[in-house]
Amino acid sequence: MSENEARQIERLKSLLSSQREAFQVERHRPIDQRKADIDKIADLTKNHAADIIAAISADYGVRSCAETQIAEIGFVISAAKHAKSHVAKWAKPKSASVPMTLAPGKAYVRREPKGVAGIVAPWNYPYQLAIAPLIAALSAGCRAIIKPSELTPQTAELIKRILAEAFDETQVAVVTGGPKVGEAFSAQKFDHLFYTGSTHVGRLVAMAAAENLVPVTLELGGKSPAILTEDYDPQDAASPLAWGKFFNAGQTCIAPDYVLAPRGQIDATADAVLGKVREFYADFATDADYTAIISDKHHARLTSMIEEARAAGTRILQPEGSDGGNARKLAPTVVVDPPLDSALMKEEIFGPVLPILPYDTIDDAIRFVNDRDHPLALYVYARDKDAARSVLERTISGGASVNASMLHMSVEGMPFGGVGASGQGAYHGEHGFLTFTHERAVFEAPKWHPSRLIAPPYGKMFDFISKLQSK
Ligand code: NAD
Repeated sequence: MSENEARQIERLKSLLSSQREAFQVERHRPIDQRKADIDKIADLTKNHAADIIAAISADYGVRSCAETQIAEIGFVISAAKHAKSHVAKWAKPKSASVPMTLAPGKAYVRREPKGVAGIVAPWNYPYQLAIAPLIAALSAGCRAIIKPSELTPQTAELIKRILAEAFDETQVAVVTGGPKVGEAFSAQKFDHLFYTGSTHVGRLVAMAAAENLVPVTLELGGKSPAILTEDYDPQDAASPLAWGKFFNAGQTCIAPDYVLAPRGQIDATADAVLGKVREFYADFATDADYTAIISDKHHARLTSMIEEARAAGTRILQPEGSDGGNARKLAPTVVVDPPLDSALMKEEIFGPVLPILPYDTIDDAIRFVNDRDHPLALYVYARDKDAARSVLERTISGGASVNASMLHMSVEGMPFGGVGASGQGAYHGEHGFLTFTHERAVFEAPKWHPSRLIAPPYGKMFDFISKLQSK
């Protein structure tokens, strides 16, 4: 472990204890102050928009500024707006009806902050995925420590600096570092641990959290399928498929990982997607709207996946393009029917490569999806609404969009999260508030309550209540 990592871990421990002390002093942050906290996030995001765009671009080499604007800055500002306008309602106690056998009395659920939250963020949307969980934590009245990814160091430093401008470290703090710091981070006794990243590391985080019985939210990845049904024109699907796949050069957890198309339509689908690529990017290598791959290692992994499929004789479609001087740009690539035992079909791709596989019947397509881990997202393209509904009914995924890619995650009022291997728990809107909230059930009895009659030695009153209860 480097000296810096050891320092960060020491700092983390001391931040956690000072946040915990501060939480003991103020266990119930008033709603007006929570709103002010949320406002600070929105303001610093607006005021530092140019810095955020520059830092993420520097970390990526090339990151589409437009995509940073909508997926990081705009996303966070609208999440803050939504939380601010709903937090008072979310935080109100929720009353519950009292059964006759317990009357008279009052039953209600207090929505209380869990305490100090730990947030571990990945590199692919380094601002959004650190700050959106923070908005949820602050709206719940929690304090939080964030660990951004080491692969986006400039963004991590920026997040640390701008949050320090607006918040005291006893409320919001950032520690930086890689896997060693991440490991130490997930071994701390947080009141909630919120992790976004790969399924592999998610499992390690869950095991570390289990040691301390720390509740954990896991926002993981996986292979999200897109199913094109018989009645859907591949030309119409091509635009949302290409947009979903090549946005951020495929480095998106809910990007369509692969497409299942009717056997007779796979070539038409592949050609239509390539046609869209040519419309989107005149020359992907020099186009500022086409993002580079985050690191040489990630670039090499994706290249070797394509080469493995090529060596197996698979049809591979790429647009013509220059190298543009940026070695980390990878051509938007469509792969027709790669072998199922190739890395492209065994691992989450997480890059700009779209395999298109044939199916003979919709039952086969559904079986293909259901034979694999539950995906984070599922896309179905169908003109017939019943056909789309049937695909949804017969599969399981974290979320889904019909005749679109990725859009379900931008509806702030819906839960965003995975299921099984793609994650557990959810956030966004009230679901995020609830993630960082302990729902405390309270029963308030009047000065004298009939339950006092039900005490040993159990007699007639007990028999009466017991009969009433079992009726
Ligand atoms: P990663 O798991 O490598 O890293 C994520 C974070 O975990 C980083 O901050 C990293 O430093 C930290 N970390 C690394 N080793 C650790 C350890 N042993 N213990 C604790 N923390 C550790 O993931 P990544 O490569 O940054 O992100 C890509 C993955 O994340 C993809 O699988 C993608 O699908 C997934 N993802 C999911 C969502 C979602 O919302 N479900 C969003 C974005 C990305």
